[in-house]
Order: sequence, then structure tokens, then C-alpha cells
Amino acid sequence: MKGLKENFQKSQILIIGSGVIGKFNALELSELGCQITIIDPTQHKNSSNAALGLLMGNMYQKRKGRSWNLRKESMALWPKWIELLREFNCELNIAKPLIQLTTNEEKFRKLEKFVNESNDLNLEILEKNSLIIKNINKAFQTNNIKGMISFKDGRINASTLLETLDTYLKNKKVNFVKDEIIKIRKSKNQWIAESRNNETIRSDMIILCNSLNTINLIDDLSQNIKLKPVLGQAIEISVNDSKINLLSLPKQFSINGKNIIPISNNKLIIGSTDEYSTKPEKNFFEKLTNFLDEKPPWLRQELITKKWFGIRSKPDGEPSPIMKNLQNGLIICTGFYKNGILLAPACSKWVANEIKKYLA
Ligand SMILES: Cc1cc2nc3c(=O)[nH]c(=O)nc-3n(C[C@H](O)[C@H](O)[C@H](O)COP(=O)(O)OP(=O)(O)OC[C@H]3O[C@@H](n4cnc5c(N)ncnc54)[C@H](O)[C@@H]3O)c2cc1C
Repeated sequence: MKGLKENFQKSQILIIGSGVIGKFNALELSELGCQITIIDPTQHKNSSNAALGLLMGNMYQKRKGRSWNLRKESMALWPKWIELLREFNCELNIAKPLIQLTTNEEKFRKLEKFVNESNDLNLEILEKNSLIIKNINKAFQTNNIKGMISFKDGRINASTLLETLDTYLKNKKVNFVKDEIIKIRKSKNQWIAESRNNETIRSDMIILCNSLNTINLIDDLSQNIKLKPVLGQAIEISVNDSKINLLSLPKQFSINGKNIIPISNNKLIIGSTDEYSTKPEKNFFEKLTNFLDEKPPWLRQELITKKWFGIRSKPDGEPSPIMKNLQNGLIICTGFYKNGILLAPACSKWVANEIKKYLA
């Protein structure tokens, strides 16, 4: 065991990409004592910074398989990381519960079947007459919403999380470099990464956390990995109707697939769309807000106070995410699509285990 600890402390690891996945890997590995460099040319303009931070773990309707196992593991790991990170920011927390709603009777029956069969006390059906639904009906001026509540799922504020990770990693003396890696190769026992600014970084191991661009760096290594860009979008709306207090609504919920987060008594966030694209279309407002038969009068384009988007990478031809150890000190962690925030703890634990095997 002592030998493994020393190996960790001696090993130089280069993490390419500093979205939530790169940062979380740095967190896990710095806890193990590795010497880490993270490199990224634009670390604040990535998909992670656009994320809403919803942690949809327990409400996932497939209760077996890899995706379910990763979600379950992440949800179990989150409290440990929150506790550690709260030393640097006491505001960091997971706001619970999470609510999934639908106006479609067939989808509701499916939810009902799932909740009944899962035998999980943390999941409950929300019928039309529940107070939560009554408040939502009042605000959205509808009468046919129903769904389920998951007391274990919730939301972490993605910006607060990323800022806290930065503070933590700086405190742990993780080296941040603002540059882009354009080529990686192995020479003898070392990895050599060449950057856009003509820097050469040598390391014992590389972890590729650079989302869509992963494929550009492993072309020469003949990996048959394909990734597609999928746009995620969000808007913040300021509601100018004094009869509506958005704080009477749940902290986070979805209606017919659109995520809704009230952030004050008159402001809420709505996300996200799903287009195979890298640029928002002109009709983004319709795409985000046409989730009911009729829009409430306060849901108007001119009331948008902010809008933003991010490009998520989705694996083509294999399930999300792609976590592969190429056995020679090169690890791939990409293609997290809709769930990078949720899955970051399980992913970084997997990476740490692979590194332990490599160093043992
Ligand atoms: C609107 C929106 C809402 C979302 N909501 C949620 C949610 O509620 N819950 C959830 O779990 N997930 C959500 N997601 C998805 C989540 O944001 C992603 O799955 C996650 O951010 C992926 O993280 P990443 O670190 O892999 O990629 P990114 O955050 O995209 O980071 C990749 C980084 O790699 C860097 N990079 C690229 N090439 C190179 C190179 N050659 N050299 C160095 N650096 C490089 C980039 O600059 C970038 O900073 C949402 C996404 C969007 C857009």
C-alpha cells in the first residue's frame, strides 16, 4: 500500500480539458496525492458552465445496466464531495427534491408503473390534487399536469460548483495552463503533449476530458470513437405578473421534458433543447417554451433577461459516456451528453481505479 501511495505522489498527470469532468478528475486525483496539470484554452466557455446542474439519478427509469450503475454510484458519492468542497464554499449544496411532470396521459401511466414497481420510498406519484401540482397549475394556467417526485434527486448550482472546484484545486497546487493541446504521443515511458503555443508538456499519464475534441487527439492512435455535438440551451425570464410568486413553486422541476428552475419570486430559468447542431436556431424561444398546449401569458420572448447555450458531446454508435483506458497511460473520459454534472463523481472514481491498476 505504501508503494502505491508513493507511486501516486510521484506520478505526473496531464488532464486535457477543464470542464466539470476534467476538474472532478483533478479533485479525485489530487486527493490521492498525484501531481496534476490541467490545460484548457477557454475553461469558462464550455458546456459545463452552461449546465443547469440537475442531478437526475434516482428517477432514471431503467433500474439496471451501466447507465443506472453510474447514476447510482454518483448519487452515493455526491454527499462526500459536497462535504469536502463546503470547506471552501459553504453555499454549495444539493437542493432537493426533483419533480418530473407531464401532460401526456400515456407517459404519466408509465411513470406511475415505474414508481409502483420500483418499491422505492424516495419516489412518489404527484396527482392532480396535490398542493405542488395546484401551485404549478396556477402559475402555468393549466389543469392537466401530473407526475412524480424524487426526494433523493435535486440540483447543484453548476457555476458555484465549478468556482469551488477552482478554489479547491488552486489550494491543492494543481497547475492550470491556458493553452490548447494539438497533438499527443508516447515516447519511451512518457507522454508528450504539444500545445498551440509551442509548449511541450511531459507526463506519465494523460486523461482526455476535452469533450468533442477528444477525437482530434486520438486520430493517430486509431481509436474508432465518434462524437456528435448536441446543443443545450437555456433562458432566464423575468415574470411581470404580480399575482405570480415563483417561489411558491418547487425548486426545480420539468414539464414535458423542459427543465424549469425558479430563482427568485419573479425570475425563472428554462432549459434545454436537443439539436444536433453547434449554433442556436432563430426559433430557440419557441423550442424552449412550447411545452404546454397553451403558453401562460407571462412566457413571452421580450421578457428574456438572459440566454445561453453549450455544446454537449454525444457518442455516436455507443452509449454515453465514453470511459476507456487505453492501457498505456492514456485514459478517455468524454461524451457525457446530458449528464456530465451528475456523473462527474462516478467517472472520476472510475479513472482513479484505472490509475491505481496502472501504477500498482
Ligand atoms: C444548457 C445545458 C444544460 C445542461 N444541464 C445539465 C444538467 O442539468 N445536469 C447535468 O448533469 N448535465 C447538464 N448538462 C450537460 C453537462 O453540461 C455536460 O455533460 C458536461 O458539461 C460535460 O463536461 P465536460 O467536462 O465533458 O465538457 P466541457 O464542459 O465541454 O469541457 C470540455 C473542455 O475541454 C476543453 N478543450 C477542448 N479541446 C481541448 C484541447 N485540445 N486542449 C485543451 N482543452 C481542450 C474545452 O475548452 C472545454 O473547456 C447541460 C448542458 C447544457 C449545455
